[in-house]
Amino acid sequence: MTNPFLSIDLLTDAIDLVAVLLLALGIKGLSKVRSARGANQLAAVAMGLAVLGLLIEIQPGPMAWLWIAAGSAAGGLAGLITARRVPMTAMPEVVALFNGCGGLASLLVAVGVALFDSASADMVALVSIAISVFVGSITFTGSIVAMAKLQGWLDTPAWTQSSVRHVVNIALAVLSLVGAVLLPGDPTGLPLWLVVIGSSLLGVGVTLPIGGADMPVVISLLNSYSGVAAAAAGFVVGSQLLIVAGAMVGSAGLILTQVMCTAMNRSLLSVLFGGALGASGGSAVGGGGSEAGYTRITSCSPEECAMALEQAERVVFVPGYGLAVAQAQHALRELSKLLEAHGVEVSYAIHPVAGRMPGHMNVLLAEADVPYEQLIEMDLINPEFPRTDVVIVLGANDVVNPDAKSDPTSPLYGMPVLEVDQARQVFVVKRSLGAGYAGIANALFELPQTAMVFGDAKAVLNGLLSELRSMGVGKVVAKKEKEKQKVAV
Ligand code: NDP
Repeated sequence: MTNPFLSIDLLTDAIDLVAVLLLALGIKGLSKVRSARGANQLAAVAMGLAVLGLLIEIQPGPMAWLWIAAGSAAGGLAGLITARRVPMTAMPEVVALFNGCGGLASLLVAVGVALFDSASADMVALVSIAISVFVGSITFTGSIVAMAKLQGWLDTPAWTQSSVRHVVNIALAVLSLVGAVLLPGDPTGLPLWLVVIGSSLLGVGVTLPIGGADMPVVISLLNSYSGVAAAAAGFVVGSQLLIVAGAMVGSAGLILTQVMCTAMNRSLLSVLFGGALGASGGSAVGGGGSEAGYTRITSCSPEECAMALEQAERVVFVPGYGLAVAQAQHALRELSKLLEAHGVEVSYAIHPVAGRMPGHMNVLLAEADVPYEQLIEMDLINPEFPRTDVVIVLGANDVVNPDAKSDPTSPLYGMPVLEVDQARQVFVVKRSLGAGYAGIANALFELPQTAMVFGDAKAVLNGLLSELRSMGVGKVVAKKEKEKQKVAV
């Protein structure tokens, strides 16, 4: 008699359950910088378990093993090379590519079942095939277009800025939906190809007009779609694990999209239907960010800035996209260490959309070993600015623009910003008076307490380091270190 407690089904169900729990814990852990690395590893283990469970369940033959081994080796190698080579600034492109791969996988699974195994499929599976093909195709082509646009391989064609695109997209949507409705009745024929072609073109048509500044929001939305496509594919192949994992990705992507829209002061509808944004990737509604627009700018040298730092008791650094471009995170960490050893209280103000993707600044600063507890979220740091002696804004622009709070005519009005204008002294480090992503002027630059320190962020930080050292701040450190060592002895 077979032991019911040792059946293959029970074993694979148990593996699936553990994998789902680990995935859920992984997603939860990703919400905190401190636990994110471990959470990522947890999710990777969950994926490994999921694959193991599937292999135990289907028990592939020798030829299938060969295909599985070759596919795993090729995919694993491509993932490894990408992860090692890609710079932090290109992470949105990589995420877009991964979403596209997820969409394509769901699409292929659904098309495969439709063509070769639909005779035994029930109505739930047939409807799921239609959903998986529809969402998977949009996700695949939309993600590839998003990646190509972010990489600068693809421009926004002029016709996509007119209302013609709405007509084209509505026609494609209708075509796809007609195919999707007819598909359960004829899963191997024309309706299947109507959905595949219609929704693939729809993915291109919807993503092509969207501009650079809004693209990360679209990528987050496409991430959510890839989850929906995977969940539908789970119904197609009867995998509870895929259904749960897809639903988790779908909802997490949707929440992230909402968070980003709020932080950028954009509605999802205006992102999807508003068209391309300005040349800098900025908002079409912006303007006035040219150097000529400013009349009351004060600039200063790194030396003057260093003197203010030397006197300060509390300093807040505001990192932005420019810090990432300059790869100045290590120089910043050096400067912080010097100031801390000098007795200065140092923290970093993190805006949710500083940089070009959510968490960009956290990852950048973590790479330079900045302690997590010094990274302070916007809501917590804003009340602290009035008691801050010096704020150094490093390659950030839109996220510190006070017009977002005070000027109802500003395109940024309503966007939550870091209230650095409340601090006693503000130094803005950037190369020129050029605009940020939103393409608009920044009232902060003209405030009496603000001084611009023009230059590349890394060069300016290195300049500050050598100025402070030449002022003896380094020597104080050495002296303090020696005193510490004496006490220790
Ligand atoms: P911004 O794009 O507003 O400003 C970056 C500034 O960095 C520029 O003004 C530029 O000025 C400066 N800069 C560029 N290179 C260097 C360098 N080498 N050294 C010094 N400065 C440099 O960045 P923020 O981080 O303030 O704001 C992010 C923007 O991106 C927001 O508008 C946000 O809505 C948008 N966004 C963010 C997303 C996210 O998820 N994080 C997603 C989508 C959009 P200059 O050329 O004069 O040096």
